[in-house]
Amino acid sequence: MSTVDTFDVAVIGRGLFGSAAARHLAEAGCSIVAIGPTAPGGDAGIYSSHDDEARLTRRLDRDERWAPFTARAVDAYRSIEERSGIGFYRPVGALFASRPELDGKHGVSMAFLRDHGQPENYWSPGDVGWKQWWPRIDFPTTHEVALDPAPAGYIRPKRLIAAQEVLTQRAGGQLVDDVATTLKPRTGGGYQIETFGGSTYDAEQVVVATGAFVNALDVMPRPVNTTVKTEIIILGEVSQADAVELSNYPTVLHQIDPDGIDDIYMTPPLQFPDGRYCIKLGANSTFDTWPTELAEIQRWFRSNTDPDYLPLLQPALKSLWPDVEFLSLRTKPCIVSYTPDRFPLIEAVESGLIVAVAGNGQGAKGSDAWGAAAAELVLGR
Ligand SMILES: Cc1cc2nc3c(=O)[nH]c(=O)nc-3n(C[C@H](O)[C@H](O)[C@H](O)COP(=O)(O)OP(=O)(O)OC[C@H]3O[C@@H](n4cnc5c(N)ncnc54)[C@H](O)[C@@H]3O)c2cc1C
Repeated sequence: MSTVDTFDVAVIGRGLFGSAAARHLAEAGCSIVAIGPTAPGGDAGIYSSHDDEARLTRRLDRDERWAPFTARAVDAYRSIEERSGIGFYRPVGALFASRPELDGKHGVSMAFLRDHGQPENYWSPGDVGWKQWWPRIDFPTTHEVALDPAPAGYIRPKRLIAAQEVLTQRAGGQLVDDVATTLKPRTGGGYQIETFGGSTYDAEQVVVATGAFVNALDVMPRPVNTTVKTEIIILGEVSQADAVELSNYPTVLHQIDPDGIDDIYMTPPLQFPDGRYCIKLGANSTFDTWPTELAEIQRWFRSNTDPDYLPLLQPALKSLWPDVEFLSLRTKPCIVSYTPDRFPLIEAVESGLIVAVAGNGQGAKGSDAWGAAAAELVLGR
């Protein structure tokens, strides 16, 4: 006879939102099980949006409802690092470059930076004064450039999750490396979760934080109003000497001109799990698709994206770093989920069942606060 473990709360999805929700709940005294695959893919074919080495972060944000969440999350980074012993945050600043007529596309208005920031951090088109700080990067002279200084920078998403999970476990939470396949209400209240690996868990309440996979498998009682978009990144490998020299360069958000690419974001070089040092550049492109079936998403993650995307992204990367020698170039498929209003969706879909998904391509930086919001709903606050 199989045994069933019972918890106050089960969190399904151990990504950025789920790991934050689980940590806040465990530290609030709830008995917690967090269920999710530790590695992407696997036999269940479930991937994630955070399986990458860097996510841009900044305290400024585009909407007054959104900004307090991001600010709260950014303010908590150092304490999560210190308490967990895992570093994930580098406040190197963020450099914005945009043609003036496209101002605001990146969520922070250049005009805002110019008017509210320090004047020495803004350069009008043609003024390459910023080159004195970052001589090896290049932007077209048609672009205005502005710096959003620290606390803007980048976080390492897998390390942030690891840090949240150290704290969850320290508070008594249990982590399970598995995929939830079904979620059913129990007679008498609460829910029962069955997993791909054949286990069963009972919980009084459930937080579903399964990102772009929220409507995959038989977990939600009805579809959540989200769509899913493919995205692509290019990794340009640099020498260790260049990696050291460029490591304190700011992140970049650039409204680039070439056809086929909408806008780009980039991190300075950092070390990847295979030991290589890479500059990471991501972009929205006209090749992006909106898959609706799990099988389509799985095909995307398993595909070789180099033939289509290298010709598109390589010139963009090289134009930004004209004198950097790239030792290798490769692309990597990624996925983002979107809500209709582009806000994270943190809501009780029925009593005891909370959904927490990012809803845009910028959920990483504020994930600790969005996870906390999901925890508050569970706790009835
Ligand atoms: C290329 C790219 C670049 C980005 N850049 C930035 C950036 O610079 N700054 C920023 O703030 N944000 C950025 N984002 C967005 C950010 O990564 C997402 O908003 C964030 O990862 C969303 O967190 P999440 O927890 O909702 O989803 P995820 O991080 O994807 O976590 C969901 C988890 O649920 C798991 N899961 C799915 N189904 C199940 C199931 N049935 N059972 C158990 N587990 C399940 C998945 O395996 C995954 O681990 C970027 C995203 C992409 C793709």
